[in-house]
Amino acid sequence: MSAEAIRQAANDFPACLERLWPLAARRGISHNTFQAYTASLTPDLRIMDLLDNQPEFTKSFWDYLDILITEDRIRKGREVLEKNRATFDIVERTYGVDRYTIAAIWGVETNYGTLAGDRPVLRSTATLACIGRRQPYFRDEFLATLEILQRGDVRPEKLIGSWAGAFGPTQFMPTAFKRFAVDFDHDGRRDVVDSMADLIASTANNLKKDGWVTGQTWGYEVVVPANFNFMLAEHRRMMPVREWERHGITRANGQAFSRGDDMAFLLVPAGVQGPGFLMLANFRAIMKYNPAEAYALAIGHLSDRLRGGGPFVQEWPRYEKVLSRSERLELQELLARHGYDVGEPDGHLGARTRAAIRDFQTKIGRVPDGFASAGVLEQLRGR
Ligand code: CA
Repeated sequence: MSAEAIRQAANDFPACLERLWPLAARRGISHNTFQAYTASLTPDLRIMDLLDNQPEFTKSFWDYLDILITEDRIRKGREVLEKNRATFDIVERTYGVDRYTIAAIWGVETNYGTLAGDRPVLRSTATLACIGRRQPYFRDEFLATLEILQRGDVRPEKLIGSWAGAFGPTQFMPTAFKRFAVDFDHDGRRDVVDSMADLIASTANNLKKDGWVTGQTWGYEVVVPANFNFMLAEHRRMMPVREWERHGITRANGQAFSRGDDMAFLLVPAGVQGPGFLMLANFRAIMKYNPAEAYALAIGHLSDRLRGGGPFVQEWPRYEKVLSRSERLELQELLARHGYDVGEPDGHLGARTRAAIRDFQTKIGRVPDGFASAGVLEQLRGR
């Protein structure tokens, strides 16, 4: 969005909020509540710079994991698990969701509540509901925020969070709060900011409703053989783990897969030079919490580390140049020009972009590993 377009939208901000009033009324927001919370609201324009800079989409997998999976974060996570052991016990029994995964979300999202953000959720969501490229999405978040305030689940001075409006130690978005938050300590409020019982249970409930399978892991680090058919590495291609074994996939730590019938897809995020991962249903459940592969892998890996597991076995291709935002956009635009459907170019290199790269690599006789390297960008430019 251009500076001029942002300025115009900012001028229109009070009128934009006024246009949202009928939608709020339809949700049972009283006119008093609406007036009280919106009358002196101004847009937070600094957010517009942050909208396109989410680290889970802009950094390489290895840089992102290096930042998040540290000895300090593993140690703190174990302390959080110990301190809340009784709550985790009962939540695990009630929801069947692995405690280490909940603790990992807590750790990755906010370093266990120490980095939960300092922006009022109402102001952030109102800004993004009226300015920028994701207004319909944030309109819903803004209205859900008003519902939370009217109901009094979380006090206004506690409803602060990230620039995107995520709040509390596990960073609930307002609509996710509406769907998943529970009053686990039975005090009449669903307080995912200050009640550890509500926080842990609500996060578990979120994962459960998003398809968590009790007793299953998120996935396995695997070795992909050199002659592997990378066209099989597709989110949609779910096969039993033992079928992947028939294709030569083995666990990186040398152990056997514990459950051959579990359905999995293969993710090779850094191409033929990097590690592979077999991802089970729980990886998809984590991706619903935040739809970035690097994020879900960080959660899965941190959960394993909290449980006592070791670091990844295989090396990442750290010598590869990480594409800048403009290069990632250019890559997507070039793929679109070659006839591939990669959606609206947004610089987020996910499954669709990877599938298009694989197809392109096949056409030019390269190993179709789908990795968006500087080399692939060069090859696309040359055609
Ligand atoms: Ca409560």
